Amino acid sequence: MANPCLDCGACCAFYRVSFYWAEAELFLGGTVPAELTTQLNPHLAAMRGTEARPARCVALQGRIGEAVACGIYEHRPSPCRELMPAWLDGEASPKCDKARAAHGLPPLEPPDCLGPVSNPPVPVPA
Ligand code: SF4
Ligand code: SF4
Repeated sequence: MANPCLDCGACCAFYRVSFYWAEAELFLGGTVPAELTTQLNPHLAAMRGTEARPARCVALQGRIGEAVACGIYEHRPSPCRELMPAWLDGEASPKCDKARAAHGLPPLEPPDCLGPVSNPPVPVPA
Protein backbone atom coordinates (compact mmCIF):
# COMPACT_ATOMS: atom_id res chain seq x y z
CA MET A 1 0.00 0.00 0.00
CA ALA A 2 1.44 3.37 -1.01
CA ASN A 3 2.18 5.97 1.61
CA PRO A 4 -0.55 8.61 1.21
CA CYS A 5 1.81 11.32 2.48
CA LEU A 6 4.05 10.93 -0.57
CA ASP A 7 1.53 12.58 -2.83
CA CYS A 8 0.13 14.99 -0.25
CA GLY A 9 2.31 17.19 1.99
CA ALA A 10 -0.65 19.35 2.97
CA CYS A 11 0.09 19.43 6.69
CA CYS A 12 3.63 20.70 5.99
CA ALA A 13 2.08 23.72 4.33
CA PHE A 14 -0.76 24.45 6.68
CA TYR A 15 0.14 24.18 10.35
CA ARG A 16 2.71 26.14 12.32
CA VAL A 17 5.21 23.43 13.17
CA SER A 18 6.43 24.54 16.59
CA PHE A 19 8.29 22.60 19.25
CA TYR A 20 10.48 22.98 22.30
CA TRP A 21 13.56 24.86 21.17
CA ALA A 22 15.97 22.21 22.47
CA GLU A 23 14.90 19.89 19.65
CA ALA A 24 17.09 22.09 17.46
CA GLU A 25 20.06 22.27 19.84
CA LEU A 26 22.72 19.70 19.02
CA PHE A 27 24.45 20.07 22.37
CA LEU A 28 21.21 19.11 24.09
CA GLY A 29 20.62 16.11 21.90
CA GLY A 30 18.38 17.87 19.42
CA THR A 31 18.28 16.65 15.83
CA VAL A 32 16.43 19.35 13.90
CA PRO A 33 18.82 21.50 11.81
CA ALA A 34 18.82 24.85 13.62
CA GLU A 35 19.31 26.82 10.42
CA LEU A 36 15.90 25.61 9.25
CA THR A 37 14.15 26.87 12.35
CA THR A 38 13.12 30.20 13.77
CA GLN A 39 12.79 31.14 17.43
CA LEU A 40 9.20 32.05 18.33
CA ASN A 41 9.68 32.83 22.00
CA PRO A 42 11.96 31.75 24.86
CA HIS A 43 10.41 28.29 24.85
CA LEU A 44 9.39 27.50 21.29
CA ALA A 45 11.05 27.24 17.91
CA ALA A 46 9.31 26.53 14.63
CA MET A 47 10.21 25.17 11.24
CA ARG A 48 10.97 28.18 9.06
CA GLY A 49 8.16 29.00 6.70
CA THR A 50 5.47 27.52 8.90
CA GLU A 51 5.21 30.64 11.06
CA ALA A 52 4.05 32.60 7.99
CA ARG A 53 0.73 32.65 6.16
CA PRO A 54 0.44 31.00 3.75
CA ALA A 55 2.63 28.46 5.47
CA ARG A 56 5.11 26.14 3.83
CA CYS A 57 7.90 24.38 5.68
CA VAL A 58 11.31 25.20 4.27
CA ALA A 59 12.18 21.49 4.37
CA LEU A 60 9.25 20.42 2.19
CA GLN A 61 10.26 19.38 -1.31
CA GLY A 62 7.97 18.89 -4.27
CA ARG A 63 4.44 19.89 -5.18
CA ILE A 64 1.63 19.54 -2.70
CA GLY A 65 -0.99 17.07 -3.81
CA GLU A 66 1.35 15.57 -6.41
CA ALA A 67 4.73 14.35 -5.14
CA VAL A 68 6.50 15.53 -1.99
CA ALA A 69 9.26 14.62 0.41
CA CYS A 70 10.63 15.91 3.68
CA GLY A 71 14.22 17.03 3.24
CA ILE A 72 15.03 16.28 6.88
CA TYR A 73 12.90 13.22 7.40
CA GLU A 74 15.23 11.49 9.85
CA HIS A 75 15.66 14.74 11.78
CA ARG A 76 12.15 16.14 11.64
CA PRO A 77 10.73 17.58 14.86
CA SER A 78 8.23 15.94 17.18
CA PRO A 79 5.02 17.48 15.76
CA CYS A 80 5.83 15.92 12.39
CA ARG A 81 6.30 12.52 13.98
CA GLU A 82 3.06 12.84 15.91
CA LEU A 83 0.74 13.90 13.09
CA MET A 84 -0.45 10.68 11.48
CA PRO A 85 -2.32 10.32 8.23
CA ALA A 86 -5.95 9.43 8.72
CA TRP A 87 -6.66 5.74 9.25
CA LEU A 88 -3.02 4.76 9.67
CA ASP A 89 -3.95 3.07 12.92
CA GLY A 90 -7.59 2.68 12.06
CA GLU A 91 -8.26 6.11 13.56
CA ALA A 92 -9.61 9.27 11.98
CA SER A 93 -7.23 12.24 11.91
CA PRO A 94 -9.06 15.57 11.92
CA LYS A 95 -5.75 17.43 11.60
CA CYS A 96 -4.87 15.47 8.48
CA ASP A 97 -8.34 16.02 7.05
CA LYS A 98 -8.21 19.76 7.80
CA ALA A 99 -4.82 20.28 6.15
CA ARG A 100 -5.85 18.32 3.08
CA ALA A 101 -9.10 20.26 2.78
CA ALA A 102 -7.16 23.53 2.92
CA HIS A 103 -5.32 22.40 -0.19
CA GLY A 104 -8.40 21.15 -1.97
CA LEU A 105 -7.62 17.50 -1.29
CA PRO A 106 -10.32 15.06 -0.14
CA PRO A 107 -9.99 13.31 3.20
CA LEU A 108 -8.25 9.96 3.10
CA GLU A 109 -10.51 6.95 3.12
CA PRO A 110 -9.66 3.90 5.22
CA PRO A 111 -8.51 1.73 2.28
CA ASP A 112 -5.97 4.41 1.32
CA CYS A 113 -4.07 3.93 4.54
CA LEU A 114 -4.13 0.24 5.28
CA GLY A 115 -0.71 -1.29 5.56
CA PRO A 116 2.62 -0.13 6.97
CA VAL A 117 3.45 3.47 6.19
CA SER A 118 5.36 6.17 8.01
CA ASN A 119 4.12 9.63 8.72
CA PRO A 120 4.70 12.74 6.83
CA PRO A 121 6.64 12.63 3.77
CA VAL A 122 9.49 10.19 3.60
CA PRO A 123 12.69 11.19 1.81
CA VAL A 124 13.04 10.97 -1.92
CA PRO A 125 14.84 7.72 -2.77
CA ALA A 126 18.45 8.30 -3.84
S1 SF4 B 1 -0.42 13.38 7.44
FE1 SF4 B 1 -2.21 13.77 6.15
S2 SF4 B 1 -2.05 15.94 5.57
FE2 SF4 B 1 -0.02 15.28 6.30
S3 SF4 B 1 1.10 14.63 4.45
FE3 SF4 B 1 0.14 12.79 5.33
S4 SF4 B 1 -1.81 12.60 4.24
FE4 SF4 B 1 -1.09 14.71 3.94
S1 SF4 C 1 7.60 16.62 7.95
FE1 SF4 C 1 9.42 17.70 7.17
S2 SF4 C 1 8.64 19.04 5.52
FE2 SF4 C 1 6.89 18.43 6.81
S3 SF4 C 1 6.68 20.08 8.32
FE3 SF4 C 1 7.95 18.44 9.24
S4 SF4 C 1 10.06 19.07 8.81
FE4 SF4 C 1 8.74 20.24 7.44
